[in-house]
Amino acid sequence: MNLSFVYQGSPAHIVFGEGSSRHVGEWVEKLGASRALVLTTPHQKAEGEAMATALGGLAVGTYDNATMHTPVDVTEAAVARVLDLKADVVVALGGGSTTGLGKAIAYRTDLPQIVVPTTYAGSEVTPILGQTEGGEKTTLRSPKVLPEVVIYDPGLTLGLSVAMSVTSGLNAIAHAAEALYAPDGNPITALMAAEGMRAIRQALPVIIASARDRQARTDALYGAWLCGSVLGQVAMSLHHKICHTLGGSFDTPHAETHAIMLPHTIGFNAGAAGKELQPVSDIFGGTPGQALYDFARSVGSPMALKDFGLKEIDLDRAAEIATRNPYANPRPIDRASIRALLQDAWEGSRPPL
Ligand code: NAD
Repeated sequence: MNLSFVYQGSPAHIVFGEGSSRHVGEWVEKLGASRALVLTTPHQKAEGEAMATALGGLAVGTYDNATMHTPVDVTEAAVARVLDLKADVVVALGGGSTTGLGKAIAYRTDLPQIVVPTTYAGSEVTPILGQTEGGEKTTLRSPKVLPEVVIYDPGLTLGLSVAMSVTSGLNAIAHAAEALYAPDGNPITALMAAEGMRAIRQALPVIIASARDRQARTDALYGAWLCGSVLGQVAMSLHHKICHTLGGSFDTPHAETHAIMLPHTIGFNAGAAGKELQPVSDIFGGTPGQALYDFARSVGSPMALKDFGLKEIDLDRAAEIATRNPYANPRPIDRASIRALLQDAWEGSRPPL
């Protein structure tokens, strides 16, 4: 067998287990810090305050205005608070939006980060930071934004709504599916991607029946870590490009957009990457696009972009933006076929493959 690859593991500490968030203070100290600023969203303000209280003398305050797509003005206000309080570490408690704020602060200040993720978005294990300013979303990759410590406590995800669990879980599966055919993929990322998908595929039907099922929440968060890890390690293609376009230029919601697009983008690539996508068929049963579509429908995912404020007339421009710059993808991309794929996703129809 002709096997040749480059693999680089992440230097981050991953702490996984129910109750592990009780040890955040120990990790603050291990990082040599003593003045933590706890970050979260307005929605998770109470949880952020509870975390600061639990940290006691190791916390200097909270900042609870993390916002989706990391607007630069929000980051600047948070950095001002960091400087004002002389914080020496940030503790980001929440989903991808809160993680994004921690990364944006780290990018500007070099402060270390501890992330306590409460969704399945996976940002906490990637060196990627997306930011918005003046209606434009830009993305950068830098080791400076990779969090030093990630504490996965499934107990903190018991209250994640079923709807958000489903879309966020499909968001994670999208990272894994594209990692399978990544041009810079390797045997380790392929293993992690398949195992991550398997764990989430197993967990979601249980979560929709019983949102507080601890085993299913553990499986889902474990899957989210694996799926996020491969997002951080290999290049993404058509799926992530289209979701970035829709979120960045048309303000469609992050997880829902990923959930809706996933069957269409993977179905589009299924013919050109049949061997690489075999784990999708094995895990979900059927041709990759149709199997993912049927699974998404079975767990109650939103299925159509038209339900999220996107107008049919926007699809031409979306296809144009998503095909403007070339990028690696198993199947060659042209504007007409991407426009047709977007039409299917807009209507919510079952993909042809
Ligand atoms: P989110 O962080 O915006 O969370 C959505 C809402 O759910 C928020 O109000 C949040 O407070 C709430 N919430 C989160 N966890 C909860 C819980 N356990 N219980 C109750 N409420 C909870 O959503 P998201 O999908 O996790 O993150 C989306 C953002 O992350 C986007 O800005 C996206 O661009 C970014 N992202 C970045 C990367 C990366 O690698 N840079 C990867 C994935 C996502």
